[in-house]
Amino acid sequence: MRKIAIYGKGGIGKSTTTSNLSAALALKGYKVMQVGCDPKSDSTKNLMKGMRIPTVLEQLKEKGEALELKDIVFEGFGGVLCVEAGGPTPGIGCAGRGIISAFEKLEELKAFEIYKPDIVIYDVLGDVVCGGFAMPIRGGYAREVFIVSSGEMMALYAANNIAQAIKNFGRRGYAHLKGIILNAKNIENEQELVAKAAAEIETEVVMYVPRSGDIQTAENQGGTVSEFVQVSPMVKIYQELADKVLEMSEDIKGDE
Ligand code: ATP
Ligand code: MG
Repeated sequence: MRKIAIYGKGGIGKSTTTSNLSAALALKGYKVMQVGCDPKSDSTKNLMKGMRIPTVLEQLKEKGEALELKDIVFEGFGGVLCVEAGGPTPGIGCAGRGIISAFEKLEELKAFEIYKPDIVIYDVLGDVVCGGFAMPIRGGYAREVFIVSSGEMMALYAANNIAQAIKNFGRRGYAHLKGIILNAKNIENEQELVAKAAAEIETEVVMYVPRSGDIQTAENQGGTVSEFVQVSPMVKIYQELADKVLEMSEDIKGDE
């Protein structure tokens, strides 16, 4: 089972990249589970026809000990298993704590043993690399990290912070930074800027994802390009990204 986390600055395109990647992997025949770790809980909506699924925290609150896997794992496009950790009421509680409870619940209910996904992808907000948001990499849930960044200064700043956090935890043998997915914002010298930043944090740009109106066209219909704009060149881009991710990530046997 491959366990991957996708980090990046707020609004940079993590959920778009993650859901299009999950769709591409699913079309290649892999069983994918996508876990949204953002209190906004909109990570998987483009795999669920634009619908927001109930979150682990919401369902926990409502059903308590009676909670079952079918209350929190929903099958979306291509059979991708969709989970949203959820978050606290704004202004009350800690978002990071919510992620931890959701992860514990998935483990307790043996989600990985029962569904046996080939790949689990965590979509994580990367502005706050605090306890909870670092949970996917710190708690051994994800072994490999990809950072989504554009060439914008704030996105690269967040990428740098995430890389430092991984390095700190990496010393204890958990997650490894695999590279940056450049999600273009079409700023001047973008590829050079990101390549330079990648070199500074001792990693590489694994894929250039161009900006494309096809993303919005698909999103307006509640989905990914693979589902709704099949003629789009973006379909090939995400297939290539899927190949890269598969090539770069380790399939860890007996680690379910
Ligand atoms: P958040 O941190 O709020 O969860 P995010 O990093 O998950 O945000 P998304 O929601 O994926 O970001 O993307 C933000 C917006 O950018 C979306 O409306 C999406 O359509 C658009 N977008 C992302 N990537 C691309 C792209 N390559 N081309 C065109 N539009 C894009
Ligand atoms: Mg998101």
